[in-house]
Amino acid sequence: MADIFLTNTLGKKKEKFVPINSDKVGIYSCGPTVYRDIHIGNLRTYLSADILKRVLTYNGYKVYHVKNITDVGHMRTDPATSGPRGAGEEAAIDPIIDEALKQGKTPQEVASEYTKKFLDDEKVLNIIPANVFPKATEHISEMIELTKQLLEKGFAYETRGTIYFDVKRFADYGKLSGNTLDKMDKLLGAVRVATETDKKDSIDFALWKKAQNDRSLKWDSPWGEGFPGWHIECSAMSLKYLTDAFKDGEFNHEQSRRIDIHTGGEDNIFPHHEDEIAQSEAATGEKVVNYWLHAGFLLVDGKKMARREGNVYTVSDLVKKSFNPLAFRYLTLTTHYRSRLNFTWDSLKAAETALNNLYRELTGYVTNGEVTSVNSDFEKKFVDAVNNDLDTPAALTLVWDLVRSNMPVGEKAATLYKFDEVLGLDLEKVAEEAAEVPEEVKKLIEQREEAWKKGDFSESDKLRNEIKGKGYEVVDTPEGQKLKKVVS
Ligand code: AMP
Ligand code: ZN
Repeated sequence: MADIFLTNTLGKKKEKFVPINSDKVGIYSCGPTVYRDIHIGNLRTYLSADILKRVLTYNGYKVYHVKNITDVGHMRTDPATSGPRGAGEEAAIDPIIDEALKQGKTPQEVASEYTKKFLDDEKVLNIIPANVFPKATEHISEMIELTKQLLEKGFAYETRGTIYFDVKRFADYGKLSGNTLDKMDKLLGAVRVATETDKKDSIDFALWKKAQNDRSLKWDSPWGEGFPGWHIECSAMSLKYLTDAFKDGEFNHEQSRRIDIHTGGEDNIFPHHEDEIAQSEAATGEKVVNYWLHAGFLLVDGKKMARREGNVYTVSDLVKKSFNPLAFRYLTLTTHYRSRLNFTWDSLKAAETALNNLYRELTGYVTNGEVTSVNSDFEKKFVDAVNNDLDTPAALTLVWDLVRSNMPVGEKAATLYKFDEVLGLDLEKVAEEAAEVPEEVKKLIEQREEAWKKGDFSESDKLRNEIKGKGYEVVDTPEGQKLKKVVS
């Protein structure tokens, strides 16, 4: 198999990808917290994971992809008061419960409504569904099990029904984010105050939290009624589905405790993924994730797109403005996944224009002949681009080089169809649908051919207009008339 290079946040450099098994790859992606419509910033991160998965599949790997659904425990604090490790953690709210109270629904109803919407949004962006979407609320026993293991191994402690991870016991803390123990000490110096009496140290984080009596989402545990912390959810579900840490793991690796790739957005690096590493590695005694990949933020006016900033757009906002959602997919491909991307409606418009031009070109190729064989030269260059840390901007440059080349159109079409296995822009579907020339248009073309042969140019021009009225442009070439579907 060809070499693939990925930038690993762990170590912060581009590395050759070496899978744990020869032909299959396990990927864990942090999924959404389901209490509202996801925004296109969230989707940018999921699109990056989709490209990763498509590139691996293109290279011949069998990919097993796990994307969790956070339906409890991802607490939200006021960033103004919460500090680097949530000094305001006690005041944090569970957004799903909060939304349920606002809407007069149960948290389960809220979670299932927004899970469905999330899956629909992924679908319209051609994001290939994960093999499994495990829900946090359905894996409470695994989280309790992992928490027990951490207590037994001395990496955690209980304080009045809440279990904290004892960060200072994990010497490797900070290896992903750079927030090492000494740095954290300085960062937290200011907030090491009496508000956090439950913790031995401000740096510690909760694995399991004691539930207040009026809380609706809570479970029995050896430590009383409570609910899991957000980070333990991803440790438990990634270990369960991608290793055999739990006996019924569905994707058992020969090296049982390893996971190939873990993805997320850049804000997941700290504290979420740093804490996940601490938990998973302390529990298993081994390095767990080999490659950490993080997508850069989608920005608006230079600021992270985020609900609390009030600058979010959703897929339905794009549709309301009559955009093809795949124009957003195209837009994300124009920038490397690790770079931040500033979203504007103008840039989306430009992406849509480019995509429509591509559809139009391709429809022209397909309307006029057979789709033949993939051009191996271009394919090699394309694989080199995407295997180089998923360089989609370079891949798009190749797409347009190909369009401008003098390659036979059948070969162009076949090559673009092949590229679309990675790009996911519906190229074949759109072109084939558009290229189905209606019988009446075919008849008009024949009549025009006759008129042309007879030298009746005014009749020929009249027919050209008639054909245009039916949505096709006729181009006269040395090989005869060629049709182009007019894509609006
Ligand atoms: P959340 O539902 O808040 O946990 O976010 C779901 C995913 O979206 C996480 O992987 C985040 O890193 C990612 N994310 C959130 N905001 C943005 C943004 N503006 N740009 C890119 N990714 C984001
Ligand atoms: Zn996660």
